[in-house]
Amino acid sequence: MLAYYASDPARTAGRRIAEPPSPSRTEYQRDRDRIVHSTAFRRLVYKTQVFINHEGDLFRTRLTHSLEVAQLGRSIARALGLNEDLVEAVALAHDLGHTPFGHAGQDALNECMKDHGGFEHNLQSLRVVDRLEQRYPAFDGLNLCLETREGILKRCSAAVAAGLQAVEPGGVARRFLAGQQPSLEAQLVNLVDEIAYNAHDIDDGVRSGLVGIEQLAAVPLFARHFNTALADHPQLDALPRRWLAETLRRMLSDQVHDVIAATRAQLELHAPASADAVRLMPALVRFSEPMRAQSTQLKRFLFTSLYRHEQVVRTTQRAREVVQRLFAAYTNAPGQMPAEHASEFERRGLRTVADYIAGMTDRFAAREYGRLVGKPAFLSD
Ligand code: MG
Repeated sequence: MLAYYASDPARTAGRRIAEPPSPSRTEYQRDRDRIVHSTAFRRLVYKTQVFINHEGDLFRTRLTHSLEVAQLGRSIARALGLNEDLVEAVALAHDLGHTPFGHAGQDALNECMKDHGGFEHNLQSLRVVDRLEQRYPAFDGLNLCLETREGILKRCSAAVAAGLQAVEPGGVARRFLAGQQPSLEAQLVNLVDEIAYNAHDIDDGVRSGLVGIEQLAAVPLFARHFNTALADHPQLDALPRRWLAETLRRMLSDQVHDVIAATRAQLELHAPASADAVRLMPALVRFSEPMRAQSTQLKRFLFTSLYRHEQVVRTTQRAREVVQRLFAAYTNAPGQMPAEHASEFERRGLRTVADYIAGMTDRFAAREYGRLVGKPAFLSD
C-alpha cells in the first residue's frame, strides 16, 4: 500500500520520449528493469569503491554495494509506505557513472577535464541513463522517468543545473534551481547509500587487515553493538568473523529503525498532503539527531583510518596516474579507442575520452594501460 506522500507511477512526470504503457508493469518497475539490463550495470561488478578490483575477491564492488543500497532502501520504503520500485531503480542506478578505481578515477578525470566542463560522477550517472546506453532503436539512453532521473542526479552545481535546464526546461535540474527536495524515495536512497558504505567499509577494512577491531572500539556506534553482541552471545569471543558480522547486522538494524522512526516523526510534523508537497519541505528522510552524530563519528573514523590509510593512498595515487596516462594516450591517438568512440571524438572531443574511460572496469583500464604504456598498471598485475 502506497502512502499518499509516496511517488505514484501512475502520476509520473513522464519520459522525455513518450512510450505506450506496459501491459504488466508500472513505469518505475520498467525503469528498474531497464537499469538491470543495461551494460553499465553489468560493469559495476568489476568496479570498486575503496579497494581496487584485483586486491581481493571478498571486497565489495559497486555492484554488491548497489544491491545492498537497494535492499536497505526497499526495507525502509516498505515500512514507510514509499514506492519500493522507484527506490530500487534509483539505488541500482546511483553509481552507474562511477569511473574505474573509485574516487581516484573520478578525481583524475575531473582534473583532465577541468577546462572542458569537468567530470562529476552523479552527472555521469545521469549521462549513462540519458545518453550513453545504446540499446533502443528510437533513442539514446534508457528514456527513464523524470523521478528516477532526478533521484540519480543527487547533487549538481548551479552552473551545471543551468546548463541542464537550458536543454530540458522544467526537467531534471528544476529542483536545484528552485531549491526544492527530490521525492522521498530519492531522499531515502541518498541516506541508505551512506548507511551501506559505512557498514561494508568497516567489514572490508577489517578483512583487509587495514583496520583493527581495537581501533573500532573507539567508535561509539560500533562499540555499542560489538559489546551487546558479546553479552548476548559469549561464544562470539572465540569467533571473530561471526562477532563482526553480528555487530554489523545490529548496526544496520539500529540505523534502519532509527531512519524509520525519525522520518515518521518528520512526516507527522510536516504532514505533506501529497508527493508534490514533499518537494517544498525540508528533507524529511533522516536520522535522529543522536544517530546523525554517531554516523558522522563513524564516517570520520573511516576517513582517517581507512580512506587515508597509507596503503589505500598509495594505490589510489597510482590509480590516478593510470587514468591520467590513459586520458593522454587516447587524446593523442583517438584511433586507439574502438571505432565508434574514435569517430565520436571528431565531433565531441575530450568528452568522448572521458565517457570512454569512465565506462571502463578496473581490470579493463589496467589492461588498456598495459597495452598503451607497455608497463603493468599495478605491481601485482
Ligand atoms: Mg553509492
